[in-house]
Amino acid sequence: MAYLMENKMEVGNIGSTLDILERHKFNIQKKFGQNFLIDNNVLDKIIATAEIGKDDVVLEIGPGMGALTQKLCQSAYKVLAVEIDKNLIPILDETLGGYDNVKVINQDILKVDLPKFLKDEAEGRRVKVVANLPYYITTQIVMTLLESDAPISSITIMVQKEVAERMQEGPGSKDYGALSVAVTYRCDAHLAFTVSPNCFVPKPNVDSAVIHLKVYEEPPVKVDDEAMMFKIVKATFMQRRKTMVNGLSNAGFLDFTKDRILKALEIMGKRADVRGESFTVSDFADFTNIIMKL
Ligand code: SAM
Repeated sequence: MAYLMENKMEVGNIGSTLDILERHKFNIQKKFGQNFLIDNNVLDKIIATAEIGKDDVVLEIGPGMGALTQKLCQSAYKVLAVEIDKNLIPILDETLGGYDNVKVINQDILKVDLPKFLKDEAEGRRVKVVANLPYYITTQIVMTLLESDAPISSITIMVQKEVAERMQEGPGSKDYGALSVAVTYRCDAHLAFTVSPNCFVPKPNVDSAVIHLKVYEEPPVKVDDEAMMFKIVKATFMQRRKTMVNGLSNAGFLDFTKDRILKALEIMGKRADVRGESFTVSDFADFTNIIMKL
C-alpha cells in the first residue's frame, strides 16, 4: 500500500479500495453510478489532461472515496467536491484528512446553484471541472454545466465511450443530438484517451473515455438569446423525426406559431419540411436570432 508524505493512505489502487470498503462496511450503490477508479496511471493521466496547476480552483463531481480528489488536492489551489452519497462522507473525511485545500459538500450536483456556488467559492477565478462521472446522469450533468453561466474554463470528464463520441457528432449522424450541439457551441472538445473496465471497482459493463472540453470565453457562433437556443435545440431533438415546424410548434415550453417558424425558415433559405437534425450549430444560432426578431 502506498502512503502520502503526510502518512495518509493513497486511495486509487485495489488494495486501499477493498480495505476502505471492508473497514467502513460500505455498500456500493449502483443507483448512484458508483464505479471507483483503482488505476493510479489513469488518475495521473486525468490530472495531466485537465492541466491542473497551483492556481486552479477545481470542481469535482462525485469524489467517491477520494481517489481523484487526493491527486487534485496535490496539484490545485483549491478543490470543491460535491458528493450525493452521505455514506461516503466519513470515508472522504478519512482519505482527505491530510489536505486543507478541499471542501466536500454532501449534495446532488443537479440541485446546486452552480453560478452562485462557484462565484462564492472560486475567488474570482474560472473553475476547472474534473470528474469520473456517474454514467446514469452524464448527459444531464454536462447539459447543466454548459447551459449555466457559471465561470467554468474547462471540463475534463470520464464518461461512457459512446457518450464521448456522441459529444463530437455533427448533422447526418444518428447520434447527433442536443448534447452534441451544446458541446460544439460552447467548447473545443477532444477525446483524450480510453479506459478499460478493469480500471474500476466494480467493473462497468461499457468502455470509458476521458474527454477534455475547453470552454470558449466567447462562443465562435453568436446568439442573442442563448437560453432560447437551448430550448429550441431540446425541442428539436425531443421529436427528431418530425419536421422543424411540427416539432417546435408542438413543444409545450415554446410559444411559436407555425407561421412564425415557416417565416424564419424562409428567411434562412431552408425548405418548409426541413428537419432540425440537419441543422448545424450555426443554423440553430441563425434560426434563434431570426425567429426572436419576428
Ligand atoms: N471519483 C470517484 C472515483 O473516480 O473513484 C467516484 C466516481 S463514481 C463513477 C461517481 C460518483 O458520483 C460516486 O461517488 C457517486 O456517489 C457520485 N454521484 C452520483 N450521482 C451524483 C449526483 N447527482 N451528485 C453528486 N454526486 C453524485
